[in-house]
Amino acid sequence: MAVLEVLAYPNEFLRKKAQPVTRFDEPLRTLVKDMEDTMAAEDGVGLAATQIGADLQLLLVHPYAFKGDEARDEPVLVVINPEVAWESPERITAEEGCLSFPDVFIQVSRPAKVRIRALDLEGRPFEVEGEGLGARALLHEVDHLNGVVMIDHVSFLSRQRALKKHQKNQADLVAAAKKKKAEAAKAPKV
Ligand SMILES: [Zn+2]
Repeated sequence: MAVLEVLAYPNEFLRKKAQPVTRFDEPLRTLVKDMEDTMAAEDGVGLAATQIGADLQLLLVHPYAFKGDEARDEPVLVVINPEVAWESPERITAEEGCLSFPDVFIQVSRPAKVRIRALDLEGRPFEVEGEGLGARALLHEVDHLNGVVMIDHVSFLSRQRALKKHQKNQADLVAAAKKKKAEAAKAPKV
């Protein structure tokens, strides 16, 4: 089991357009396994390779996004080189979070339904449809592979508010890590 570090905004890698996957080999399978472990450890519904610093068009979505709680133990959906084949004209605005913006939630408008064309882990083409959270998760992760993040979809004011919260959260994390280090340094070494 390997839990990878999830890059936090504004890491510039998050603005990169990812390269298509061309080799469906053992290193790719290992990366997918590590991303699954990372997603589970972070309790995420989806994860894009961009977020862990891998320059590949690869994303994962937890089956929970499509089927809810009953799918908790089903295998994670692996989506490679995705293309949005169709989006519904109907849109839904709902709260959205991102592992690259820990503890920041914003209202984002997305198509209610989407159909994605992609390759699986063996390089075989398939299509997946998502509705509601399923559509939201797929589109959010496809965005990551194109260097787009959730705050790009909202108004200037919402973006400023989200960024302020994100900066405070990141500063709190740094302060907590410093405090932990200082406490460890004080502890008796026996
Ligand atoms: Zn995200």
